[in-house]
Amino acid sequence: MSVAVRFAPSPTGMLHVGNIRLALINWLFARSHGGSFLLRLDDTDLERSTAEFAAGIERDLGWLGLDWDRFARQSDRLDRYHLAMEALKRSGRLYPCYETAEELSLKRKSLLGRSLPPIYDRSALKLTDEDRARLEGEGRRPHWRFLLRHDPVEWDDLVRGPQHFHGRDLSDPVLIREDGRILYTLSSIVDDIELGITHVIRGEDHVANTAVQIQLWQALDGPVPTFAHLPLLSDATGAALSKRLGSIGISHLRDEEGVEPMAINSLLAKLGTSDAIEARLTLAELVAEFDMAKVSRGAPKFDPEELKRLNARVLHATPFQSIATRLEAKGYAGVDEVFWNAVRANLSRLDDIAEWWHVAREPIQPVIEDAEFAAAAASLLPAEPWDDTTWSAWTGAVKTATGRKGKALFMPLRQALTGLDHGPELKNLLPLIGRERAGARLAGQVS
Ligand code: GLU
Repeated sequence: MSVAVRFAPSPTGMLHVGNIRLALINWLFARSHGGSFLLRLDDTDLERSTAEFAAGIERDLGWLGLDWDRFARQSDRLDRYHLAMEALKRSGRLYPCYETAEELSLKRKSLLGRSLPPIYDRSALKLTDEDRARLEGEGRRPHWRFLLRHDPVEWDDLVRGPQHFHGRDLSDPVLIREDGRILYTLSSIVDDIELGITHVIRGEDHVANTAVQIQLWQALDGPVPTFAHLPLLSDATGAALSKRLGSIGISHLRDEEGVEPMAINSLLAKLGTSDAIEARLTLAELVAEFDMAKVSRGAPKFDPEELKRLNARVLHATPFQSIATRLEAKGYAGVDEVFWNAVRANLSRLDDIAEWWHVAREPIQPVIEDAEFAAAAASLLPAEPWDDTTWSAWTGAVKTATGRKGKALFMPLRQALTGLDHGPELKNLLPLIGRERAGARLAGQVS
């Protein structure tokens, strides 16, 4: 059977690094097995789900290059969930309960107070028809729980290894709310069965759900998929990802921080695996390197600084052909391959190119401390055309004529030519500045 996975975000917020990592791992798993990747929007919470968040999810995945072969929306499939609900009722696995939230909370507190696990006591099972009629007569509406079997539940997790639970240690989960809404615990299984999901890859916050859901798969006669529960990201110190870091949206990284999609992909594909984290320019490379067996159980540390470093490395390695269209779209139509190759090693984010464009092609204020030395250097500027050998020929001549060497030779030239004391290698930058502008800057003119 060919591999089928899904990424199932709820459109109740923006995608952030934590859920993008899960999307990416699912996508890499599908692609490395020649399988299919389903994007499923878990949008049954109508109060919190919005079309804008749904569009944002699609835009973010598209921007990262995580294309989907199939698409589903839970709000389109409500009739399927109702059929499953009816089937469970018929088989006696769904029972009505009438406790209010306060009553349930009191029960939990009382169990915890006696150092007992807060497992639902199934008292609703003891209600007679008359009890139920009376409760409904009082205006109460039932919520419905799934009757777990008190059997062992086991699976061999691709990340966590063999897992053992027992039905008697778990609370019968609520599948249908009082207002009739079908909850994710059930709808997700109906989808996974009907859409032929073979591998459920999700965060380890779902491990306890899985124990319950396996019984649901069985009750609905679906094949139980293989599971991989990934540890959740932690911050650089190993603590759970703070709200601030955990909520860093992909759109924020893209629009405010200038992070390249492949920097995010390169980091999140390898974080918490046995592979070294390196800049990769294509998803195909990440697919070739992907193996679920490399994912470790320890919480991976997400460090925004590492993302920044990786972003710079991605830009430094990006060939002009891959970036030309974006440069043009951003208004840097004049940046050609020579210019790109001269400055890319100095970019932390693509927009930094504006600074080097300004330095090479627009008037700047030169910094001149020793006008005599600058004038001597100007008089030695060779005739054009200039190329990447011009700098060394020229500075060789300046060295011979002035006796300066090392920093005393190079720094004043850099400051005069660029107004800065750092920047791209001058052997690459000098031909971009050109002879006329270089001469004027060495003479102290804004040019
Ligand atoms: N919508 C669920 C969530 O975002 C999906 C979990 C799952 O992968 O089953 O937590």
